[in-house]
Amino acid sequence: MFKGILIEKDEAGYRATYQAIAQETLPEGDVTVAVEWSSLNYKDCLALTGASPVVRKFPMIPGIDFAGTVLDSSHPDWQAGDKVVLNGWGVGETHCGGLAEQARVKGDWLVALPPRFSAREAMAIGTAGYTAMLCVLALEKHGVAPGDGSILVTGANGGVGSVAIALLAKLGYRVVASTGRLAEADYLTSLGAAEVIDRSELSEPGRPLGKERWAGVVDTVGSHTLANACATTRYGGVVTACGLAGGMDFPSTVMPFILRGVTLCGIDSVMAPLSLRHQAWARLADDLDIERLNLITREIPLSQAVAQGDAFLAGKVRGRIVVNVQG
Ligand code: NDP
Repeated sequence: MFKGILIEKDEAGYRATYQAIAQETLPEGDVTVAVEWSSLNYKDCLALTGASPVVRKFPMIPGIDFAGTVLDSSHPDWQAGDKVVLNGWGVGETHCGGLAEQARVKGDWLVALPPRFSAREAMAIGTAGYTAMLCVLALEKHGVAPGDGSILVTGANGGVGSVAIALLAKLGYRVVASTGRLAEADYLTSLGAAEVIDRSELSEPGRPLGKERWAGVVDTVGSHTLANACATTRYGGVVTACGLAGGMDFPSTVMPFILRGVTLCGIDSVMAPLSLRHQAWARLADDLDIERLNLITREIPLSQAVAQGDAFLAGKVRGRIVVNVQG
C-alpha cells in the first residue's frame, strides 16, 4: 500500500479522497517511480473537482506531472536511482498519475531531471512552467525577438502566466501582464512585468482589428481574450494559444491573419514529442531565475491537495502550488 489521492466514480457519485492505495491499482508500465513532488495544474483541479470530464478511467490517481526517483525499470534508458520528471501523456487522465507516492509509467514518457533543478523545483515549474517554455520557444521559432515590441501575457497570475512572465523578462522581452487581479500588480512586477493591465480591456467582444500593440502573445485564457489579442497584434506578430481559463470558444475573424500576417500557434504540452520536451527543460534550466520561481511557488502536503481544487478553478490561486508527496 502507498498513500495517494484516488478518484472514484460510482453510484455514490464522483469523489477524490486521500487514502491508502493498493499496489495493484497501478497500471502497466515498464518503470515504477517513487514520486517525491507533484504539482497542481488547472487540469488537475478539473480532475479533483470533477468540474470537467478530464478523467476517463476509474479508479484514477490524478496528477498530470511528477518528479521522483526510479524504483525499478525494465526500460533500457532507466535504472533504479535515476531522477526523472514526467509531464502529460494522459497521465492523471487515462493512466494513473503523480498525486501518490508511487507511479508506474512508460519509460518512453520520462525525461531526466535537469541537474540544475531539485525534484521540488522541477515541480514548482511543473506542466504549467514547461508549457510557458513551449510558448516562449514558439515565439522564438517564429522570429519574435526582444526589442521587437511588447509581449502580452494573459492569465498573468496563474501558473503558466507567472512562469511565462519570469522567462520572457529574463530573456529581455518587455512584458505586459493582463490580469483580473490588479491588487497583485506588485507581484507581477516583481516577476518582471513592465506593465500590468486589467483583463477587462481584452475580455469583451471586440472589433476584427484594433490598434497594433503586441509583437507576441502568450494566451492562457482563450475566448474573446484570444480574439482581441489577435486583433491587436502588430503586423507579422505571433500569438501562442495554450489555454482556456476564460472559455474554449474563439470568436475571431480571419482579419488579423490575412491583413496583418499574424501567426497563431497552438501549444500542446501533453503529446509534445520528447525532443521538444528535452529542449524545453534544457532552456528552463538556462533561462528560469530560481529566485523568481520561489516567488511564484507555494508548498502544500499531499493530504491537502483535494481541498485546493475549487479555489484554483475560481482563479483565486496565485502562481504555482507544489505538492510534497512524501510529506
Ligand atoms: P491557473 O488557474 O493557474 O491560471 C489561470 C489564470 O487565468 C488565473 O490565474 C486568472 O489569472 C486567469 N483567469 C481565470 N479565470 C478567468 C476567466 N474567467 N477569464 C479570464 N481570465 C481568467 O491555470 P494554469 O496557469 O495552470 O493554466 C492556464 C490555462 O492553460 C488553463 O486553461 C490550462 O488548461 C491551460 N494549459 C494548457 C496546457 C497545454 O498543453 N496546452 C498545459 C498547461 C495549462 P488572473 O487572475 O491574473 O486574471
